[in-house]
Amino acid sequence: MPSLTKIFGSHVFDLRTMKACLSKPTFNALKRAIDGSARLSLEEANEIAHAMMEWAVGLNATHYTHWFQPLTGRTAQKHDAFLTLDEDFTAIERFSGSQLIQSEPDASSFPSGGMRSTFEARGYTAWDPSSPVFVMQRSNVAVLCIPSVFLSYTGHALDKKTPLLRSERVLNQSASESLELLTGRKPRVFSTVGAEQEYFLVDQEFFNQRPDLIMAGRTLIGCQPPKGQQMEDHYFGTIKDRVLMYMEAVERELYRLGVPCKTRHNEVAPHQFEMAPIFQKANLAADHNQLTMDVMQKVAKEHGLEVLLNEKPFAGVNGSGKHLNWSMQTDEGTNLLEPGSTPHKNLRFLYFLVAAVHAIHKRGDVLRSTIASSGNDHRLGANEAPPAIMSVFLGSHLSGLLDLVESSMDLTSAVISEIDLGLAELPQVVRDTTDRNRTSPFAFTGNKFEFRAVGSSQSVSLPTVILNMAVAESLDEMNAMLETQKDRSEKSILSVLRHFIKRSKPIRFEGNNYADAWVAEAEKRGLPNLRTTPEALIVWERDDVREFLTRSGVLAEPEIEARMHVKLEGYAKEIDIESSTLLRMVDNHVLPSSFRHQTHVAQSIQALAQATASAGMDAAGVLGSQAAYLDKISSHIARLLASRDELEAKVEAAPSFEHAKESAFYYRNQIVPVMDRVRSDCDSLESLVDANDWALPTYHELLFML
Ligand code: ADP
Ligand code: MG
Repeated sequence: MPSLTKIFGSHVFDLRTMKACLSKPTFNALKRAIDGSARLSLEEANEIAHAMMEWAVGLNATHYTHWFQPLTGRTAQKHDAFLTLDEDFTAIERFSGSQLIQSEPDASSFPSGGMRSTFEARGYTAWDPSSPVFVMQRSNVAVLCIPSVFLSYTGHALDKKTPLLRSERVLNQSASESLELLTGRKPRVFSTVGAEQEYFLVDQEFFNQRPDLIMAGRTLIGCQPPKGQQMEDHYFGTIKDRVLMYMEAVERELYRLGVPCKTRHNEVAPHQFEMAPIFQKANLAADHNQLTMDVMQKVAKEHGLEVLLNEKPFAGVNGSGKHLNWSMQTDEGTNLLEPGSTPHKNLRFLYFLVAAVHAIHKRGDVLRSTIASSGNDHRLGANEAPPAIMSVFLGSHLSGLLDLVESSMDLTSAVISEIDLGLAELPQVVRDTTDRNRTSPFAFTGNKFEFRAVGSSQSVSLPTVILNMAVAESLDEMNAMLETQKDRSEKSILSVLRHFIKRSKPIRFEGNNYADAWVAEAEKRGLPNLRTTPEALIVWERDDVREFLTRSGVLAEPEIEARMHVKLEGYAKEIDIESSTLLRMVDNHVLPSSFRHQTHVAQSIQALAQATASAGMDAAGVLGSQAAYLDKISSHIARLLASRDELEAKVEAAPSFEHAKESAFYYRNQIVPVMDRVRSDCDSLESLVDANDWALPTYHELLFML
C-alpha cells in the first residue's frame, strides 16, 4: 500500500504539479489568477491547458469536462474528448486555453427558476482557477474535471459556486478593514469550512426492493423494530468489517482527489456513519464535499451497498446532518476565532466573535432559509436535531466574558484587569471548557462555529454564503461605529463590543434547545421559528432581506427570485414524488400483502368453524376471539383504503408547480399530514401481516443486517 502522503492529491493538478509542468512566467501568472489578482492571457491559458492535458493523459484521461454545481445542488458534467481531427483528418489530442476557460452547455434543462426564457437556452461554464482541476478515475475511465461556475447568457449565476466566490470577496473586504482598524495591518481574510458528513448504509439487495428508497431516498413506510438506537450502542462502536472496507475505499479515492478525510466513526443510529475532513478554504471545501457525496455513492455500489444521504431515511432513529464548521482566517494563517490562552485580552478575537453573534441575531432567519428542504423538515425540531429556531451557544466561559464586557459601566483598563480577575481560572483550558451543547444549531466549539442544522444531502455553499455575508455586514456596522470613536484604544473597542453584545443578546442561549420551554422562551425573545420549508423560503420575499442580499453584489434580484422559485418548486415536486411513490407502494405491496394475510386468517377461521361444528364442539369462544383478530386486520385495511383515497384525491387536486409558492404550501399543509396517516395505517398492517406475505424489506433488515 502506498503511504497516504504519496496518494494524497495524486490526481490533482496542484501547485507542485503546475510548477513542474509550466514555464516560470506562466506559473506565476496562474498563481495570480488563483488568488484572483489578475486574469490570464490567452497564450498563458493555452500553455496551461496543454500542460493539463499532458498531465491528465498521463493518468489515462481521454476526456475533459467543466465540472459545475447547478441549482439542483448536485454536480453536473458533459464530457468532451481531447480528440481533434487536423486538416488531413488525422486524429490528434488537443486541449486549448479557450476550451479550458469557457464552455457552453445548453442551460435549458437545468433549473433556472424562470431566469432564462426557453428560447434563450445558452449558458456558460467558466473555469474557477481557485479550485484545482483533477482527474476523476473510475476503473479504467479517466476524465479531467475543471471546477467551474455556471452562468446564464445574461451573466446571472445559475449555480452554487458563483455566489460563494462573491461572498468571499465581501467577507475579505469587511474583515480586513476590521483588522486594519484594530491592529493597523490589513491581511487578506477568507472563510474556512469543514463539513462533517453523516450518512446511512444499507445492503443493496434490500435497497433495490424498496421503491421508496429508490425514488425518494428515504423510507415512506416501515414499522418500528423492537430495537432502534435506545441501547446507545452504535455511536463510536466497533466499525463492522464490511463498512470499514467501504470507508477505506472511499477515503483512498478521495485522497487521490486531494480531499483531506480525517475522521470516520459509527454515528448514533444503527447503520449510520460519519466522515469528517480537515477544514479548507470554503470554496475548496464546498467542492470537496460535493465530490465526497459523489464518491460515496459510487463506491457503495461496488461494495454491494447503497449510501443514503437523505436527511431522514428512517423514522424513529436519528436523521443525518452535515455539521458546517466555519471560521475566518488571514492569509498569514491566523484563525480569527482562536481565543488564544487569554481571550479576555484578545480584543481581536472578541471583535470577530461578537460580529458572528450579532450576524446570527440579525440574519438568523435568512441562514435558516438556506437549509430548508423537505428532508430537513423531518429533522429540524425532531428530538435529535437542532430546532428551526436559530440561536447561538457560546459556553459558560465566553458567555460570562461577554456579560462582563456588557455590564461594565466603566470601560477602562481597570475593567480589563477585573475581567482578568473574574476569569482567572480561564486561560489555557478555554478550548476544552466550551462544553458541548449538542442541541444548539449554532455553537462555538473552541475556535470555530459549528452550524449543525445543515442537512446531510445539502451543498454547504449557500449557508456559507449567508454566514460570510452576515458576518461581513456585522463587521461593517462595528467598523463604522469604531470609526466614530475618538481613538482606537481598548476602551473604544470595548464600548463598541458592549453595544453589539447588548443588541444581540436575545440570540444567545445556553440551555437545552430541544425543550418545549425553549420554543416559548424564543417566542418571547422575538426569535423567528420557521418550522417548515415554505415558511423559511419566503423570507427571501422580504424587502429587508432583498436589500441585504443585493447590497454587496453577492446576489442580484433575478438570482434571488430564481433561487427561491427553484427551491419552492423543488420542495413541492419532492413531496409529489414521495406521495405518488407511497400510493404505489400501498397499492402494489401493502394492500396485496394485507389481503393475502386476511384471506389466510379468514380461511383458517372458516376451517376451524367447520371442524368444530362437525365434531359437535362448542367453539363460540375461540371463534369469537379469532373473528376479533380478523376484524382488527380488516379494519386497518379499511382505514388504509380510506386514507390512500384521500391522499390520491389531494394529489390530484394539487395546484400546478408553476405557482411554486402556492404549490409548496399546498404540499406542506394538505399532502404531508395525509401521508403521515397513510404511513401509520401501513405500519399497523406491517406489524400484523405474516412475514412470508410481506414483500418489502423491513426496518429490521434495512437497519440491522450489514
Ligand atoms: P469537534 O470535535 O469540536 O467537532 P474537530 O476538531 O473534530 O472539532 O473538528 C470538526 C470539524 O471542524 C473538522 O472537519 C475540522 O476540520 C473542522 N474545523 C476545525 N477547525 C476549523 C476552522 N478553523 N474552520 C473551519 N473548520 C474547522
Ligand atoms: Mg463536530
